[in-house]
Amino acid sequence: MMPPVSGNTALFLDIDGTLLDLARTPDRVKVPRDLLRSLERLSQQLSGALAFVSGRSLASIDHLFAPFRPAAIGAHGGEIRGLDGAIARIQPLPDSVRDIFVGLAANIPGLLLEDKKCALALHYRLAPEAQPVLATAMEKHARLFEAEKVQILEGKAVIEARPIGVDKGTAVAALAKQKPFAGRAILFGGDDTTDLDVFRILPRLGGRGFSVGKHFAGAEHVFESPRAVRAWLSRTAEAGAS
Ligand SMILES: [Mg+2]
Repeated sequence: MMPPVSGNTALFLDIDGTLLDLARTPDRVKVPRDLLRSLERLSQQLSGALAFVSGRSLASIDHLFAPFRPAAIGAHGGEIRGLDGAIARIQPLPDSVRDIFVGLAANIPGLLLEDKKCALALHYRLAPEAQPVLATAMEKHARLFEAEKVQILEGKAVIEARPIGVDKGTAVAALAKQKPFAGRAILFGGDDTTDLDVFRILPRLGGRGFSVGKHFAGAEHVFESPRAVRAWLSRTAEAGAS
């Protein structure tokens, strides 16, 4: 059963694959007008306690959802923006790691490199055959990554590098301490491996969660698709959280 949304809920929402259908490249996703409306209404009903939790950079999130600009976690926790607009950013990844990713993107056709400074993402949706090559390259450089305290993560047609110890879970825990999130009942939704870091800490935060497409441990509800999530958000905004 989907946990209810009340006036005391704090909503934390992943974007790609949860709110938005995945596209061939990250910049081709579409934000339906209805979704934007639902999010804006819900944010108002929750006194601003609605935050995005994404692998995208804050700049990319804001570009997608303009003019809506809620609190947000970008780059898998590398960037945290409170409702007051103040941004906390971690250090950029070292050049040694960046060079490897830049080299791969330059040498394998169809790869798309997204440089989020504090995280790097290689998208291979346009070149699925590159996956084994990338996996081998990641193994080859495993020592360097370890020495630089960088972890490699595999998502849906994407390989990411980010600092060890920084993830969506630690970021949600940090943002949940800030106004207007503090003291509220957390409800999180996500669809991909990096969202598991949030599911892992939800019990400690007294939060609840839903997943999209497949069941994650701790998820109380599974939506079939982002479209189903959008329909739920629309109904919820319509009902008015109080
Ligand atoms: Mg996602």
